[in-house]
Amino acid sequence: MQNKILVAGAGGFIGGHLVAELIRKGHKEIRAVDIKPPDEWHQRFPQVENMSLDLSLRDACEHAAKGVEQVYTLAADMGGMGFIENNKGLCMLTVLINTHLLMSAKKFGVQRYFYSSSACVYAADKQTDVNVTGLREADAYPAMPEDGYGWEKLFSERMCRHFTEDFGLVTRVARFHNVYGPHGAYDGGREKAPAAICRKVIGAKLSGKHEIEIWGNGEQTRSFMYIDDCIDGIGRIMRSEKVTFPINLGSAEKVSINQLVDIVEDIAGVKLKRSYNLSAPKGVNGRNSDNTIIKQTLGWEPSIPLRTGMEKTYAWIYDEMAGCKTKTRRT
Ligand code: NAD
Repeated sequence: MQNKILVAGAGGFIGGHLVAELIRKGHKEIRAVDIKPPDEWHQRFPQVENMSLDLSLRDACEHAAKGVEQVYTLAADMGGMGFIENNKGLCMLTVLINTHLLMSAKKFGVQRYFYSSSACVYAADKQTDVNVTGLREADAYPAMPEDGYGWEKLFSERMCRHFTEDFGLVTRVARFHNVYGPHGAYDGGREKAPAAICRKVIGAKLSGKHEIEIWGNGEQTRSFMYIDDCIDGIGRIMRSEKVTFPINLGSAEKVSINQLVDIVEDIAGVKLKRSYNLSAPKGVNGRNSDNTIIKQTLGWEPSIPLRTGMEKTYAWIYDEMAGCKTKTRRT
């Protein structure tokens, strides 16, 4: 357990939880890198090597990857639907991070490289119906991914494949489907639906103004994966000798946004008057994860029920908003 591991994007939501898990597993040599200044990281651990670097730059990537055995690439300029629909150019520039990290991994003989792709790679014409059946890995082609963000993910996936085929770099690629949990963004414009809905419901409860605005008509469907399943899955995929292709990492528990609001209202013990903003970004009509291949290859799939995960997420956001805890960020 003495071989160095790089977590790129460690100041972010998933990167922070991954560093926590690697520490729990007994890894001592961890390099945690993010562009944000350390006091803005969601979680930060003093026992690891924490660095602020802009990984879109080649020199920074070489600095980060030198002497490292495994790389986990979770760094990206991204956010929820509101962010990716309005920042397509910024999302596409994330290609610089994966390009320079792959080049650096090749240069320094990294043994294994993990890339965090997304369900946004899936072709738009497979996601027009709210009663969507789960998206299978093959549904990414013929390609028509989410504009901007999804194209970058699909291109970077493909680059991983060719770095493996041409240069022998061992890569593992997971297509995450909506990840949620504590220690992530819940305001500021980059938050995703589960955190945004928790924030809105808590705001209504704390202010006594019992109303909520929902983006779209609320009938759009998604699945949401709790962060513990995501971190478990990343480890399983990284260790696997069988998962040599991009694989779904997501929950297969499909809900509509209205049903997600029902769950949060129930947790909060409130009922809110709903209004629907039909001009707000809402993404595709229906999306779910088909877990046939992950079950076949790993004998496992994400299984934490949405209600269980949302209770923990709600409690964390509530504490943050109500100021019950002075500081949850671990430094
Ligand atoms: P996040 O925004 O919380 O974390 C990403 C981190 O990358 C941020 O801390 C950011 O500061 C950092 N970063 C951005 N540009 C950088 C740069 N130039 N150099 C160094 N660091 C930089 O996002 P997340 O939810 O933790 O997502 C992690 C990965 O998983 C991303 O690649 C994302 O696209 C992917 N993903 C996430 C979800 C989800 O639901 N959260 C779904 C699909 C895919």
